[in-house]
Amino acid sequence: MDVSELSSVPEWLPTDLKASGVEELYPPQAEAVEAGVTEGQSVVASVPTASGKTLVAELAMLATVARGGKALYIVPLRALASEKQREFERFEEHGLSVGVSTGNYESEERWLATCDVIVATSEKVDSLIRNGAPWIDELSCVVADEVHLVDDPSRGPTLEVTLAKLRRTNPRIQVVALSATIGNPEELAEWLDAELIDSEWRPIDLRRGVHYGQAVHLEDGSQQELSVQGNRRQTAAIVADTLSEGGSTLVFVNSRRNAEAAARRLADVVSEGLAEGERARLADLAEEIRDVSDTETSDDLAEAVRRGGAFHHAGLTGEHRSLVEDAFRERDLKVICATPTLAAGVNTPSRRVVVRDWRRYDGSAGGMAPLSTLEVHQMCGRAGRPGLDPYGEALLLAKSHEELEELFDRYIWTGPEGVQSKLAAEPALRTHVLATVASGFADSRSGLLAFLERTLYSTQTTESGRLERVADTVLEYLEANDFLERDGGSLEATDLGHTVSRLYLDPMSAAEIVDGLESCEQRPTALGLYQLVCRTPDMYQLYLRSGEDEKFTELAYEREPEFLGRMPSEFEQDFEDWLAALKTAKLLEDWANELEEDRITDRYGIGPGDIRGKVDAAQWLLGAAESLASEVGLEFAPAIREARRRVEDGIREELIDLAGVRGVGRKRARRLYDAGIGTRSELREAEKSVVLGALNGRRGTAENVLENAGRTNPSMEDIEAANVATNGGAAGESGGRPADRAGERDEEDQSNLGDF
Ligand code: ADP
Repeated sequence: MDVSELSSVPEWLPTDLKASGVEELYPPQAEAVEAGVTEGQSVVASVPTASGKTLVAELAMLATVARGGKALYIVPLRALASEKQREFERFEEHGLSVGVSTGNYESEERWLATCDVIVATSEKVDSLIRNGAPWIDELSCVVADEVHLVDDPSRGPTLEVTLAKLRRTNPRIQVVALSATIGNPEELAEWLDAELIDSEWRPIDLRRGVHYGQAVHLEDGSQQELSVQGNRRQTAAIVADTLSEGGSTLVFVNSRRNAEAAARRLADVVSEGLAEGERARLADLAEEIRDVSDTETSDDLAEAVRRGGAFHHAGLTGEHRSLVEDAFRERDLKVICATPTLAAGVNTPSRRVVVRDWRRYDGSAGGMAPLSTLEVHQMCGRAGRPGLDPYGEALLLAKSHEELEELFDRYIWTGPEGVQSKLAAEPALRTHVLATVASGFADSRSGLLAFLERTLYSTQTTESGRLERVADTVLEYLEANDFLERDGGSLEATDLGHTVSRLYLDPMSAAEIVDGLESCEQRPTALGLYQLVCRTPDMYQLYLRSGEDEKFTELAYEREPEFLGRMPSEFEQDFEDWLAALKTAKLLEDWANELEEDRITDRYGIGPGDIRGKVDAAQWLLGAAESLASEVGLEFAPAIREARRRVEDGIREELIDLAGVRGVGRKRARRLYDAGIGTRSELREAEKSVVLGALNGRRGTAENVLENAGRTNPSMEDIEAANVATNGGAAGESGGRPADRAGERDEEDQSNLGDF
């Protein structure tokens, strides 16, 4: 179908599409149009990676807006929200307004009411519904991207319940659900009352195979020689072979550490063959990467990039990630070694994909477990750039003949798994039952059960009564902890319950925080508060590495009086978790004690993106703790606020006032303080030469800072920098604090994918 044949879409669209190289709709897109996607018909599109699902969503959204409606695009990760926003920004020149909702869970973001297209994660949409965002009931179209993630035990239920709520609020809403190819797309279509587009079509041929010995064994039964010489590894041989044909390689591995190590090794392979121009561009890029953050990860990445390779994982900052992705698309980078985060939606096609590790550590399995077929297919789907490569090739690696056969059986001959709702589990229902009642979707047990009938779980289950049983257990828990009141069959959220739902807390986190605070007899310390929020289910804790038990047990005894609530004994089962929370809390304390970023990343074996992730989560949870303290009538709000301010900026107590001035981060605040300027008002009055000296002679910065502090004449003209003492805890200008890079913080994600 030629794009000029599209009806019900804005007039400018066909020209716009043609200008961007889209002349004809891809077959699955044409199928969606025939099914009525531009006329408001709900569709489920189960289509391979990189086969143009986004355009299906765009057609639906633009048609809805043309009819005077409003569209919501739900993404699974915050990083993808920014990517989609960039994609949709081109609508703005045609008069549409596009907004991305990335604020904190509590914020309302009223301006979104004026947007035609809104992009947000499912958690954010859930929270907007809980907080009564007025535009929710004006929505006429909702897109659920990567809807197969309803299968994910930790985040799937939120997407599922959110879609159920949106459909309940707006019974006529069009749902466009985009999915990777899965085993049971018809169940999703049945749940959503949608037409199903189930296609295997790809814009570029994909050849899949397994490398074993000296050859690639392809799925059509053919073999291609690809020899591994001397003690070279398989991956290195494949990368070199791809390079000899002018192509790039994307290598998927199972951990961050492996990604970094493989990138180092593979950069050796590609660096020899780089052209002069590439070398120069990569050197510039390496400098840009170093400037992003002052840590070993940043240096390691820069070093690999200089030689034509890179690693990509969730320990990188958002800025690192986009620099790497852009350079790979530009073909300056020849190889990226990535953890599975990259397979999740980021558009980085390459000539060859290598799935090096097909097993990864899985805590719930207590060891290494194979990747799902769906995941491997998504990784393989990144192979081949339409229009640039003759075909894409995706390879798994086998070390033995048995493994070769196993890989063929598992990932090549077998179709992807079906997705299964994970809603009927206590942690998921605890939070969603409370929110469903608190936001008025149900006011009785029977109303609640009727609401739950609208979920995928109900469509799929054959086991009668399970959801009801779990719901009853959860209702009991919520009542016992004073979040809900039950009177006969009727249900009502308490004030505390409403607060918890609005704060977007897991009720169990809220109970832990309230109990901890209530047990506290004196003003809590920062470490005590950090440990408290770190042991809630809303914080992803750091793991204890081997040998660390002892170190943190010692710390636990040393600082015992500071902890809120009972500390379990070493012999109790939950001691290990408690200790992991202490380790996470200690990281936050180190940060708030102005330890340099690179020392923290070293000490805890993490990346700079992780500090940011933990800081963001702690800030949110401490904010929630402050609200809960007032809700239950405790006096600790000022102590909590102070701990939160300190962790937000990574500063000691005495810098809180100064760091409140825009443009003053932890390092600048420390230098100003050491130069004798202790507060915002002192900054307004201070000798300009001292300010300039403390800010390393940077005039622009100094003027900015003075202006932000409210000084009437901030000009630094003719001022000489004074020689000032700057001997504080922090060093170097380039490190910065997380809050200095506000835009990027939004891209960090706390999802379970964050573990990679
Ligand atoms: P998916 O979401 O299915 O993984 P995308 O929507 O990201 O895939 O599309 C992959 C690429 O294909 C994008 O670069 C997009 O611009 C391009 N594309 C989509 N539809 C067409 C089309 N009909 N003709 C040419 N290119 C297209």
